[in-house]
Amino acid sequence: MSYLHASSSIDARNQTISVIGGGMAGLAVTYHLLSQGPPSRIQVFDKAPVGNGGASAVAGGLLHPLSPRGKLVYRGIKGLYETNALLRVTVPAIVKDRLYRVATTEAQAITFQLTAQKIPRICEWIAANEMQRICQSDTVYGGLVLQNGCKVVDVPAYLKGLWSACEHLAQEKNCQLTWTVTENAAINQDDIIVYTAGSGLFEPNSLLSAPTFPMQLVHGQSLVIRCNNNNNLKDALLCGKYISPLKDPSLVLVGSTHEFRDDLLSPEEVIHELRERTSAVAPHLWEDYIVEKITKGTRVQSERGKHGRLPIVGKLPGNKQRWVLTGLSSRGLLYHALYGKMLAKAILQGSEDCLTELDDGILWWKKKLKQST
Ligand SMILES: Cc1cc2nc3c(=O)[nH]c(=O)nc-3n(C[C@H](O)[C@H](O)[C@H](O)COP(=O)(O)OP(=O)(O)OC[C@H]3O[C@@H](n4cnc5c(N)ncnc54)[C@H](O)[C@@H]3O)c2cc1C
Repeated sequence: MSYLHASSSIDARNQTISVIGGGMAGLAVTYHLLSQGPPSRIQVFDKAPVGNGGASAVAGGLLHPLSPRGKLVYRGIKGLYETNALLRVTVPAIVKDRLYRVATTEAQAITFQLTAQKIPRICEWIAANEMQRICQSDTVYGGLVLQNGCKVVDVPAYLKGLWSACEHLAQEKNCQLTWTVTENAAINQDDIIVYTAGSGLFEPNSLLSAPTFPMQLVHGQSLVIRCNNNNNLKDALLCGKYISPLKDPSLVLVGSTHEFRDDLLSPEEVIHELRERTSAVAPHLWEDYIVEKITKGTRVQSERGKHGRLPIVGKLPGNKQRWVLTGLSSRGLLYHALYGKMLAKAILQGSEDCLTELDDGILWWKKKLKQST
């Protein structure tokens, strides 16, 4: 089936597509442009080398379809499926093939048991005594093991693997593909442009205007911790915050803060907050530890709508072929492949129609744009 729309005035196959930002969003779009198209040329511009830039480089790597309250999010199963399809081309990036959502209150335990009944293939209820054994903590009320597609991913390794898969596809399909490290991409105005630079899109005097879009920037800091006792955590635990194993078995990642102000919390405040919020599920972690590193990143968090926080994806207003995928919030891993695939299809068709055919609420953010202008 050809993805080129009959009514399209632009044949994207003969054009150069410039992708600004090569994090999860930019690379998912690039991969799908290559597999569904490809155009004659794709150039990716990023301030950093592959796997080193933006929120993607510091993400916890937790891939699952549950909201913070433990319910299935909108298009969660489809998102999980599409991300796993991309993970299959980058297998060594998988750190764990399951994770635990721990219930720290009785109310959560009830909600989680309902979730386990609703999506048994993904979530299995773990009784309190078993969860207490896993966490080595007697203050938890049970939990869910999230599996069959839920994973802990080494995101920088995943992005490097995905880029390498893009290079192979480009070679196979005779498309010219380049990655240029620059903050000020010099782009021919006739090119198709895809804006996927995460928070870089909304910096002052930057590519898009922050007040116009229904989003806010949320900073996150995480701790890389070395555990000095023998109780190293083997599994990833979610409890509103997360504790996640890293490739080096003596290190864990504890994250993350949600900071709405630009004057970031001090290192002491970050340690205090994350310790307070994770002690119930991993008390041993905090008995004897060294903070090796504090990482920082900024999420583009979209406004909450009737389906929760959904990505900002589609064509920017105006006659030119300017497209955007951002607002992945804290669900970058779950949503980047699904929405990147849909966006690639629309770009190649030169029309947004296929997006609304796939999901009639997908352009929710355009209504908000109109309201603010
Ligand atoms: C601390 C933290 C932990 C997180 N943990 C998780 C998690 O466990 N699971 C999960 O699913 N999500 C998580 N997220 C969210 C996830 O990281 C984001 O949703 C996702 O990375 C967004 O991807 P993106 O490609 O839209 O933006 P980004 O990852 O920010 O990528 C943008 C890219 O654009 C580049 N760029 C910026 N400005 C310019 C410019 N002017 N010119 C050229 N290039 C530019 C950057 O270098 C970067 O490579 C976390 C986020 C944070 C901050």
